Amino acid sequence: MPAQLIDGNALAKKVRLEIATRTAILTAKGVKPGLAVLLVGEDPASQVYVRNKVKACEDVGMHSILERHPADLSEEKLLKRIAELNQDASIHGILVQLPLPKHIDSHRVIEAIAPEKDVDGFHVANAGALMIGAPLFRPCTPYGCMKMLESIEYPTKGARAVIVGASNIVGKPMAMLLLQAGATVTICNSKTKDLAAHTKEADILVVATGRPKMITGNMVKPGAIVIDVGINRLPDGKLCGDVDFDEVKYVAGAITPVPGGVGPMTITMLLLNTLEAAERIKI
Ligand code: NDP
Repeated sequence: MPAQLIDGNALAKKVRLEIATRTAILTAKGVKPGLAVLLVGEDPASQVYVRNKVKACEDVGMHSILERHPADLSEEKLLKRIAELNQDASIHGILVQLPLPKHIDSHRVIEAIAPEKDVDGFHVANAGALMIGAPLFRPCTPYGCMKMLESIEYPTKGARAVIVGASNIVGKPMAMLLLQAGATVTICNSKTKDLAAHTKEADILVVATGRPKMITGNMVKPGAIVIDVGINRLPDGKLCGDVDFDEVKYVAGAITPVPGGVGPMTITMLLLNTLEAAERIKI
């Protein structure tokens, strides 16, 4: 029997309704949650992502601004703009779309965002706070994955979780969140020996490598929960994940599709983080 499908679109819709309600309540009290999205350059995928983020804000009644800057914007000018937005009372969340052009140090840019407006959760203060279990913001993609696990009421305590991919924005924070939820966590990277020996042990398998369909059916434990973070464009223009969905759906107990899985939940968690940033303002 094919695995249960964890429908990211349906879950995102439900969570966004709750966000819209809380946004309306806060707005009525005089604080309209606001997100500023900064895009530097013309990366086509980034253009789509930022449009989706701004549209999602509008749909839940939030204020949003989208700033498109030319690819040759200087780092100094970008830092200056972030400093202004840090002081802007109508903006509660600041997001700089990555990747940035090579002449800009993205680490320095992220550190320039006030931690209390760092709705992506990438600032070192939030990354460190996540490590000790007290972040202001959880990074949106792993946070969305945790919501998906919650939605199927999967008991994370004592579960064996394996994460394939160890980036700062997905793999590492995912490991922290699962650890805090009581799972026993293994993180794999490109140097991991005998990857399948690890993945086959997983009750919860989270994959975020950017390698299309690299997790095949024989790498998955029967009944496992498989969360596919990958977004890859195939030569025929179709999107696929890092998991071979057509094979793995016959082995897993539950699986997220691509598209329509983690992607919509990532944007939803961005909205939730922005809302919570605004809710922290003393009225
Ligand atoms: P990065 O390129 O930053 O990191 C990839 C990680 O995967 C690295 O840790 C790398 O190991 C590891 N890796 C690469 N190849 C292998 C392999 N063969 N076996 C085991 N590990 C491997 O990617 P991101 O974390 O930024 O993104 C990962 C994927 O998730 C991409 O497809 C991206 O588009 C997608 N994504 C989707 C989001 C969503 O909202 N759905 C949000 C963010 C990302 P090493 O450390 O050794 O290099």
